[in-house]
Amino acid sequence: MPPILEQGTIRRAERLCHNVIDLRIESPRIAREVQPGQFVHIKCADDLLLRRPISVCDVEDGQLRLIVEVAGAGTRWLYGRRAGEVLDLLGPLGDRGFPTPDARGGPVLLLGGGCGVAPLLLAAKCSPVAVDMVMGFTEKCRVIMEQDFKSCCRSLTVCTDDGSYGTAGFVSQAALRLLEQEDYQAVFSCGSMAMLKSVVQAVERADIPCYLSLDERMGCGLGACLGCAVKLRGEGGAEHYGHVCKQGPVFELREVVWDV
Ligand SMILES: Cc1cc2nc3c(=O)[nH]c(=O)nc-3n(C[C@H](O)[C@H](O)[C@H](O)COP(=O)(O)OP(=O)(O)OC[C@H]3O[C@@H](n4cnc5c(N)ncnc54)[C@H](O)[C@@H]3O)c2cc1C
Repeated sequence: MPPILEQGTIRRAERLCHNVIDLRIESPRIAREVQPGQFVHIKCADDLLLRRPISVCDVEDGQLRLIVEVAGAGTRWLYGRRAGEVLDLLGPLGDRGFPTPDARGGPVLLLGGGCGVAPLLLAAKCSPVAVDMVMGFTEKCRVIMEQDFKSCCRSLTVCTDDGSYGTAGFVSQAALRLLEQEDYQAVFSCGSMAMLKSVVQAVERADIPCYLSLDERMGCGLGACLGCAVKLRGEGGAEHYGHVCKQGPVFELREVVWDV
């Protein structure tokens, strides 16, 4: 199905912490189609040619929920938006989001870092099996969406790098402990490339499927440019390039060639 172009009115704009905003946008047509892990491409300020990709965090009553952290001009413009304003949205994008867990299988482990926790909320809410969530932030004042995950996950571990809140240490360390205790059917993860690499090391030993959302820098969002090319390993081990925006943004860890 081709992506939908929709003008979405912002119903709520709430600041979650410094430089992070939580937007609820009326967008019934996109909301009806979106799957966990997919994203919308948003037209930002008039002088910014390229749209900016933002994961859909949740869907409720025809509204999309998006969590945006300021990285540069586009996300700063989004951070400045207020209720009543209209956003130009294209979506849902990404042919492959997080898969639906097998309802007869074991629980799923979700691992998120920073704003990478956002797409995991919809994955948790849509899961037919229990989910355990580990979320990591640099420090206490960066912790977001704790209550959201508490209300839909079997367990929630909050980690901070500096130990100022929850468990001290990285998401991958907490993941290792949980992987030793429980037979998970899969791991879903989203966060910075540094976090994903440490997750890959932790999960490789457990030998279970691990689906990673690669939030690569992106150009067109439709697979037409090479802005978000990623090296993949195909059948028989042959390497080739794929587009995060089109073939992803979610990939199984063994498909990705990690030296890129
Ligand atoms: C599929 C997908 C889903 C995403 N979901 C979210 C989300 O839910 N919430 C959110 O806040 N952000 C998300 N991002 C990241 C967001 O799209 C970028 O931060 C944004 O496009 C940067 O645009 P900008 O104009 O603000 O910054 P720019 O001026 O374009 O860049 C500012 C700095 O950020 C770096 N940068 C740009 N894009 C990325 C990226 N994807 N990863 C790491 N560094 C980057 C640039 O190299 C530069 O150093 C997602 C990205 C992808 C690909």
